[in-house]
Amino acid sequence: MPSHIASGLKYLATIELKKDGLSQKEIAEELSIDRSTVSHYLHGRNLSWNSIDFAKTITQLSPKDFLLLTQRLFKNIDETRKIMSICKNKDYLAEVSDSCIGCGLCVDSCLMKAINLNGLKAEIDSIKCCGCLICKDDCPTDSIKILEVNNDCKY
Ligand code: SF4
Ligand code: SF4
Repeated sequence: MPSHIASGLKYLATIELKKDGLSQKEIAEELSIDRSTVSHYLHGRNLSWNSIDFAKTITQLSPKDFLLLTQRLFKNIDETRKIMSICKNKDYLAEVSDSCIGCGLCVDSCLMKAINLNGLKAEIDSIKCCGCLICKDDCPTDSIKILEVNNDCKY
């Protein structure tokens, strides 16, 4: 996977963090990139518009494809989680029903580390959820509901 697409995703994350009020230094630390690179991104330099367009296209794929492509791209799960949490287009509300048997399969399958077991029931942190539905597909008792709660696309 070409590295310029990864740079495009970091560009989009930079713009989002700037909108959230972070300084260039804070953005550089958050994304593990040089401060000069942050400055270039914020001034529209050092990156082709093609890279940015490719990155925008990736963010508009299904959440599962966006997540798995980003993981392939960065080959680093911490960076992947960071990009997903900053660049995801929608927010989600995750619910686990009483039919959960606490098998833990969903805990292992969630790449966003959004699920924990509390006793014999799974609990999902909706803030961390990127809506990929991998946990839902893996659940043997069909106990997980993932609802979209915000449809505002950023890109
Ligand atoms: S949908 Fe499930 S697997 Fe995907 S991020 Fe949300 S909790 Fe994790
Ligand atoms: S996979 Fe389903 S049954 Fe197993 S812990 Fe998760 S929600 Fe519960």
